[in-house]
Amino acid sequence: MTDLSSPQQLAGWKHVYSGKVRDLYVPADGSDAHLLVVASNRVSAFDHVLEPPIPGKGALLTALSNWWFERIDLPNHLAGEDAPGVPEEVADRAVVTRRLEMHPIECVVRGALTGSGFAEYQRTGAVCGIELPAGLEDGDLLETPIYTPAYKAPLGEHDENITYEQSVELVGADVAAALREASLRIFTAARDLAAERGVVLADTKFEFGRDPRSGGPADLVLADEVLTSDSSRYWDAAAYFDEQNSRADRLASFDKQIVRNWLSANWDRTGEPPVLPDEIVAQTYDRYAELYERLTARS
Ligand code: ATP
Ligand code: MG
Repeated sequence: MTDLSSPQQLAGWKHVYSGKVRDLYVPADGSDAHLLVVASNRVSAFDHVLEPPIPGKGALLTALSNWWFERIDLPNHLAGEDAPGVPEEVADRAVVTRRLEMHPIECVVRGALTGSGFAEYQRTGAVCGIELPAGLEDGDLLETPIYTPAYKAPLGEHDENITYEQSVELVGADVAAALREASLRIFTAARDLAAERGVVLADTKFEFGRDPRSGGPADLVLADEVLTSDSSRYWDAAAYFDEQNSRADRLASFDKQIVRNWLSANWDRTGEPPVLPDEIVAQTYDRYAELYERLTARS
């Protein structure tokens, strides 16, 4: 589990939780309307938080998520003017959000078959109960994106892939349908926008909640981080569509693949992972920054 012994102290906020990458705070005055979500520079791979952190990562991912929020046609969790401000110390890597009741579903959408989805397909011919045509290879684009939900397990447990029918049992038919519809719609719009910038959006994960102060259960509010390189897999379109390239080069992603590759070569996955060398830290940052610059055309 994450070490909670030394969360950063922020005036006006009380630390309540740390995931592998983010730290959550609630207003110190006890009000429950808002949440401060701080993106740290921590990087995780194979379910371990690694040393050292990647300087600048939290700010880049926060900026990218905010950039997407502005472009997505669905209410999101970013708080309005009436909310307390983001503390100075974490100004560039935190957001103040409405505190939502989260739906316990990780809304995964896949526009390509790779990673755990490809592994499941190889075993069963299907992903989360969705049958796919035979003969697909790792990294193949799907004719239409598929919605492959996962149950968001309680703290510390692993999320578990489920079928759409199981998501109906968990949240009810109305909410399950709304989650699927919104996820596929946002994915498709984001995929098309990324394509214009020479980037393939292979897959991503959304989380939604409901605002107990307004709207009904199926009035979704988009929460968490959106379309960042921690929650999504992005490929360079030029490399992806170049048939001369090896599969590994076609599928080189704009995320922590550099870290995963280095760990795979230097660690047997038992005990604590080794400390990342400086050049791996620098390359990883560059890769995150390149995605941000490509998508947003900002530096
Ligand atoms: P992991 O380390 O595997 O990612 P995690 O998902 O629990 O674990 P984080 O992603 O760091 O850790 O934590 C963010 C948490 O905050 C998630 O549980 C997410 O569902 C929740 N969350 C995000 N936005 C909101 C919101 N607006 N209101 C309430 N909870 C939210
Ligand atoms: Mg998370």
